[in-house]
Amino acid sequence: MSLVAGVDLGGTAVNYTLTTADENFLIDGLCEHPARAREGPAICLQQIADGLRIAADRAGVPLEDIAMVGLDTPGPASSAGVLSERGSTNFVHTDWCGFDIRLGLEQKIGKPVIYLNDGNAGALWGHFALFGAGTSATSVSAIIGTGLGGGVIAEGNVIRGRKGFGGELGHVLIPYQSIAGAEGMKPRCNCGRIGDLESLCSLTAIENSLLPHFLPQYPDHELAKLDDNRKAAKLVRGLAEKGDPLGREIFRVQAHALGLFFDEMINIFDPDALIVGGGAIETTADFQGWFVREIRRGMPSQRAEQLDIPIHIMPDGDTAGARGAAIEALKTARRDGLL
Ligand SMILES: [Zn+2]
Repeated sequence: MSLVAGVDLGGTAVNYTLTTADENFLIDGLCEHPARAREGPAICLQQIADGLRIAADRAGVPLEDIAMVGLDTPGPASSAGVLSERGSTNFVHTDWCGFDIRLGLEQKIGKPVIYLNDGNAGALWGHFALFGAGTSATSVSAIIGTGLGGGVIAEGNVIRGRKGFGGELGHVLIPYQSIAGAEGMKPRCNCGRIGDLESLCSLTAIENSLLPHFLPQYPDHELAKLDDNRKAAKLVRGLAEKGDPLGREIFRVQAHALGLFFDEMINIFDPDALIVGGGAIETTADFQGWFVREIRRGMPSQRAEQLDIPIHIMPDGDTAGARGAAIEALKTARRDGLL
């Protein structure tokens, strides 16, 4: 056996990748199917098993050559891959409550499976893409989506923490009151905190806090005519890209929130790289460049030795989860002598 697979199971899509033992990815771009997570574990796990066969066919390799599978999903879940008893947005079917998705997939496909949460998998891919395997580097990745995920990678290893909540970057509080234009805002996160990173820097933050705060300052704006905050929130990125002042203002506040957060990470980890990913910045190079410059502008001043810590955009953002899960599986398969 000479391959490992990565499977990124999201709320709406499941994405596959395959890599050889020398980290040569066999699938360029997306190998993706609509996810059937809503229909419960029995159907969803069968779908993943079928999808792995399709991915192997597409790469022109026998399924039997896959030694191990790396699986990543949104949480909440334990570091061992047991989904929350209370269910979650992405696993609404009652059969998912407390379900051991790692073990379930292992039994379904008859191959060893390792588990990561999706933020940590993306962070591991970003780290690997920059530094390769066997590095002593440290990186922090923030992934901006519906919520805010990410992870901390130290010396090539995911910091999972005691119960799997390591790298829950979205719920770290930041001194948002210092962001220009945020005066009077009270950004509340789904977790109950006020002023954590996710409450300012996510699609949910745009819908719940940033649009309600900024839109009244632009009464003639096209979004003011929409009666649906959720719909309006999804349009903000596209408007910001085109230079719309309201869109830019909202993304500037998000960038400055990230700047404050990265400043905290710089002082804790003195990292080799900071990485930004997620749907929010899968956009033009121009907009990405502007966003990264705004992150820096939003940072408090740094000591001279740390001024050059780079901020990167996540490479291959849409396949980062699957690729990160595959990298973790590769590491484990090597350790266990399966490759
Ligand atoms: Zn939170």
